Amino acid sequence: MDSAPPAVISAVITMEGLGALLDVLRSRGYRVVGPTVRDGAIVYDDLASPASLPAGWTDEQDGGRYRLVRRNDDALFGYAVGPHSWKKFLHPPMQRLWRTEQNAGGFHVIEEPAAAERFAFIGVRSCELHAMAIQDRVFLSGAYSDPHYRARRENAFIVAVNCGHAGGTCFCASMNTGPQAAAGFDLALTELLADGEHRFLLEAGTGAGRALLAELPHRAATPDEIEAAGAVVARTAASMGRHMRSDDVRELLLRNFEHPRWDEVAERCLTCGNCTMVCPTCFCTSVVDSSDLAGTETSRSRHWDSCFTMDFSYVHGGSVRASARSRYRQWMTHKLATWTDQFGTSGCVGCGRCITWCPVGIDITEEVRAIRESESQHGETQQSDPP
Ligand code: SF4
Ligand code: SF4
Repeated sequence: MDSAPPAVISAVITMEGLGALLDVLRSRGYRVVGPTVRDGAIVYDDLASPASLPAGWTDEQDGGRYRLVRRNDDALFGYAVGPHSWKKFLHPPMQRLWRTEQNAGGFHVIEEPAAAERFAFIGVRSCELHAMAIQDRVFLSGAYSDPHYRARRENAFIVAVNCGHAGGTCFCASMNTGPQAAAGFDLALTELLADGEHRFLLEAGTGAGRALLAELPHRAATPDEIEAAGAVVARTAASMGRHMRSDDVRELLLRNFEHPRWDEVAERCLTCGNCTMVCPTCFCTSVVDSSDLAGTETSRSRHWDSCFTMDFSYVHGGSVRASARSRYRQWMTHKLATWTDQFGTSGCVGCGRCITWCPVGIDITEEVRAIRESESQHGETQQSDPP
């Protein structure tokens, strides 16, 4: 994490330069992770070389639906976000916090050291940069900061990619979080495929990014290449699969706490928690203690949890949010309304994962639209979502 302002250096690299980028990062001790095809989806995992990237693949996404399909070119980043987000590395699903050992000398508590691993993330999208900034506020600001998250985040090197393909459930343009990476990256790529050439416009956003760029085979970008990169992002912004009016959504939801739509969505919601697992900003956890059979070692671990489980709001005597209605309402109003009161921004970056990976296709943009339109019909508001 480097807070230097984005620079206006624009260079061009080829596939050879991309390979060199991964090699240099590895030689500097980074664990290089990025998108790759596995189990019929594009997931984030270790990259051995650019050959591990999903060349020639794209995705079709809709409510409860995800399919990989072939492109008619060899684009490496020609798809939208998949089921993984970078939180799986920065805020892993299971984190041991401490363990104890009992031996002849007595009983010892051993704190889990902060991770020494240094990640280089390849192919981070603009919505994901915004999601990281949101999780930074959760884990690093305020009275308590998380040492495990801090270590991983501060040591990470981020290579962003400006999106050349909007997924069927993307709505970052509505949330002002994309598709152009504006800040929060060390390097940003825009993939250019034209005239039989495969190139990447590369911008350095930090001193670390500029230093790494200097080690790569590159040349200065031409005005035409800079314009072509701008056109890629503009085309993507114009082809979002979903839209959601977001400027007044906080007030809309808070004045509709008893709206009948919550009952309607509760009839479909399975309360499975998929939406919270795939969401790049959801951060809730629970703590589990365990011990070995001999009783000489115990440990405490933190696990991802979800506001959709009954246990999550359990207090003596029962769950505070016992119904599907109350749990869905809690999740959506937190994301889009009370998150702003808590952290100063929306909790949603418009990535669309919760729509794609909901087994019954519940769509957060559709739920907002339904509440807004019912108000319109009652003459309480004059504006509606774009089509
Ligand atoms: S909205 Fe969909 S993904 Fe989320 S808990 Fe309900 S059924 Fe599961
Ligand atoms: S609420 Fe849904 S669309 Fe918004 S950031 Fe989370 S997963 Fe993405």
